[in-house]
Order: sequence, then structure tokens, then C-alpha cells
Amino acid sequence: STPIHIVGGGMAGSEAAWQIAEAGQPVVLHEMRPVTGTFAHQTDGLAELVCSNSFRSDDSEQNAVGLLHWEMRAAGGLIMHTADRHSLPAGGALAVDREAFSEEVTERLNAHPNVTIERGEITGLPPESWGSTIIATGPLTSQALAQEILAATGEDALAFFDAIAPIVYADSVDMEKAWFQSRYDKGETEEDRTAYLNCPIDRQQYEAFLDALLAAEKTEFKDWEQDTPYFEGCLPVEVMAERGRETLRYGPMKPVGLTNPHNPTVKAHAIVQLRRDNALGTLFNIVGFQTKMKYAAQTQVLRMIPGLENAEFARLGGIHRNTFINSPRLLDEQLRMKSRPDLRFAGQITGVEGYVESAAMGLLAGRLAAAEALGNALRPPPPTTAMGALVTHITGGAEAKTFQPMNVNFGLFPAVEGLKGGRRGRKDRYKAYTDRAKQDFTAWLGQHAAA
Ligand code: FAD
Repeated sequence: STPIHIVGGGMAGSEAAWQIAEAGQPVVLHEMRPVTGTFAHQTDGLAELVCSNSFRSDDSEQNAVGLLHWEMRAAGGLIMHTADRHSLPAGGALAVDREAFSEEVTERLNAHPNVTIERGEITGLPPESWGSTIIATGPLTSQALAQEILAATGEDALAFFDAIAPIVYADSVDMEKAWFQSRYDKGETEEDRTAYLNCPIDRQQYEAFLDALLAAEKTEFKDWEQDTPYFEGCLPVEVMAERGRETLRYGPMKPVGLTNPHNPTVKAHAIVQLRRDNALGTLFNIVGFQTKMKYAAQTQVLRMIPGLENAEFARLGGIHRNTFINSPRLLDEQLRMKSRPDLRFAGQITGVEGYVESAAMGLLAGRLAAAEALGNALRPPPPTTAMGALVTHITGGAEAKTFQPMNVNFGLFPAVEGLKGGRRGRKDRYKAYTDRAKQDFTAWLGQHAAA
């Protein structure tokens, strides 16, 4: 039969190739290195880890990324299998010997009778004559290909860097201080009324917050960032603050159009708004707070905001070089481009973030493409699983208008009914989520085997 093509032999492309090959289908994996390089990759190995060597927590009962490890192992994933063979002691985290890891992934794929590896850059959108194709070219997708994706999808459907505002678990916001309201009470439905959370700040708190923000440790700007003009709308919050002590009060912290029901007679000096980040309403991002503060500093500074003293973060803010498409708008639930269903996307270019999440989307794209080629199309796993929660988020759950890359986290999971909310119930809740996920993922794999 005709081979499935994969562009990009990183975390996602390597896993996708393995899944297709193991399903008995021929696959051609195109990797541009070493012919063409990126600024971060150092070798010509497949699945090279460009920065840290950590796959994060391996706890599959209390941690969402640990659960994703579990699911990928259950699905016979090459990336997890190889990571386990080359793991290094790292407490509860899974760290790997990066060279041995990448070498073994490369060898296993090289040795597989269904896999052909071709080296060289794919400089345009793969033609329809290739048939089923997966694009997994990652955060550093080559210029030529990125330009063609841009041309095919439109201006605001492909981004060259992310600008991530910190995301808070809704149930960790102190509602004795914060309140729901959209500015000038715009919108009429219940959805509109719960679209924004507001945190009031008095003059003294504002001044102290500003001092802490300006003093906080930041990540240095890299070379590429010097030449990327930040869009005014994406300026890091600390850069805005540097422009003057009142700038934020006229920007993301403006106090107009809102009334604090806990204290209706006193006008707040400044207000921080949080916007609902997913359809479930479990996650809220802090509007306009994209930042290059280091993680420890971010947590400290943000918890100075009244109502966020005990905030738990589903993800912290950041700004990185990152090529990614607007998946909620462009892709169907099968990770296929709606306007070119012969093309699937996988990995970080779909707007997931991290080695594990990227490999997971590769695993899924590989399985879906293989099933389709075999004539028994499959549905992705349900949103109660880590893999399903992630793919549901990027292809539908997330707001297309403000779409930014996402890590896997429990805020993406539908609630388990009848459990205590808040901090106290957390341990039981996470255990219930992971138990349910394991059961549902196993059932999904079963359907797969039967198909
Ligand atoms: P990649 O692993 O990057 O693979 C994409 C592959 O496609 C590459 O091998 C590339 O050479 C190839 N390619 C690109 N364009 C073409 C083309 N036109 N034709 C053929 N091949 C092409 N994540 C973490 O979890 N931890 C970290 O510490 C971390 N640090 C990072 C640091 C930097 C500087 C960057 C850029 C990213 C970092 N990430 C980190 C994110 C990480 O890159 C991704 O999570 C992961 O590697 C993405 O997997 P992927 O398969 O989507 O992309």
C-alpha cells in the first residue's frame, strides 16, 4: 500500500512513525537535519531533546503528565519505552540520558522494516499526491514550510512565538475577594457573566505589586527575540510596567467598568482580570500578564494580587520562539486540517507544549492515520483521558481567538461528580481522575485492537 508520510523526526514525528509501522503500514519519515539545522538542535539524531532532559513527573495517580506517561506506555509508545530504558535518577521525575535516548529511537526506527527515513528539508506544503501525511515539524519549523502553512491558513492562524499569560485553577481563587463580571457588563448569557473574574487592588497594594514586578528575576531575551518586534498587544507585563508607574493602570490593570460586590462603595485603584480559558470553566488566564519572569518569581509576585494569595497555577507564563497553528480553528478532532483532510498535524505545532505532550499528539496522529489507511477509522480517546483531554482542548475546548499553547493538566478534565472541590479534596479528586482515565484509555485501546 502507499506509505504515509511524516514531515519532522522529532518527538512527535518519531512516535507517529513507530505507531504506523507497528500497525503494519509503510511510512516515510522526512527529517531535515543534518542537511538543514535549527538554532536549538545539536545532532542529527531523531527525537533530540533540545533543552532539559526531563519528562517531568512520573506519578500516574496524582499528576496529569505522569498519567500521560502511563497512557503512552499502555499504547506501546516508542518514546516512553526508550525513555524508561535510559532513565536517570531524578526523584519523582523521569529524566533521561539524552544521547542514549535519541540514538536508540533513531536505531529502532532505522531497523523497522516498515520505516524509511529520508533526510532533507520539505520546503512546501506536501502535495495531495503524497496521500495521508503528518506534519510534525515542531516549534522551529523551517522558514520555507512555515511560510507555506501561513499562506494556506491565513495571517492570524500561524504564530511564530507564544505569549503565554499564567493560567490559574478557578477553584483556587478566593471568591471572598474576587467576583465574576465582564467589563461594562457586556454580554447577556450566563456564559458571558462567568467569562471574567476580577481581583481588586488598592493604592498601597498596587505600588507594592509594581515594585515586586520590576524587581523580579526575568529570563534573558535571546538573540532571535531581539529581532522579533513584539506586537503591542503581546508586550510582557513587566516591559509595560517599565514604561511608567501608571501604565498598567491604563492597560491590563485598569479599574473601569467594574463594581466590586464585596465592597461596592469603594472604587478599586486597579483591577486584575482573569478570563475563562476553557469551555469547562476550570481554568482562567490572567489577562495581559504574559511575562518573562522566572517561574519562582512569578508565583510570588502573582500571589500578591488580592484573591490570588493561594492561587494554584495550571501553567505559568512565558514567551518563546514557537511556531504553532490555531488548531481550534484549523483542525478537526482527528487532527486533520479541515481544508486539506489529507494533512494531519502533530506535536508542538498543534499548540501543545512540552516533550511529552508533543510525543503524545504524535502517538495519536500516527494511530489515527494508520487506522484510516486500514479502512477502520477511529475516534480519538475520550476527554476523560489525558491524551483525550489534551486533543479535545486544542481541537475544540480552547477559545480560538486567544489560543496559546497548553500543557496537560487536570483543569482540562471533565469533573468527576460527587467529589469535594478546593484544595482539601485535591488528592482524592486527582486519584479519581486518574483511575477513570486509566479505565477509559484501556477501553479505547481495546476498541483499537478489535477494529
Ligand atoms: P521537534 O522535537 O522540534 O521536532 C521537529 C523536527 O522537525 C525537528 O527534528 C526538525 O529538525 C524537523 N523539521 C523542521 N522543519 C522541517 C522541514 N521543513 N522539513 C523536514 N524536517 C523539518 N520542551 C520541554 O518539555 N522541555 C524543555 O526544556 C524544552 N525546551 C525547549 C527549548 C527550546 C529552545 C525550544 C525551541 C523548545 C523547547 N521545548 C521544551 C519544547 C520542545 O521543543 C518540544 O516540546 C518538543 O521537542 C516538540 O516536539 P515536536 O516533535 O513537535 O518538535
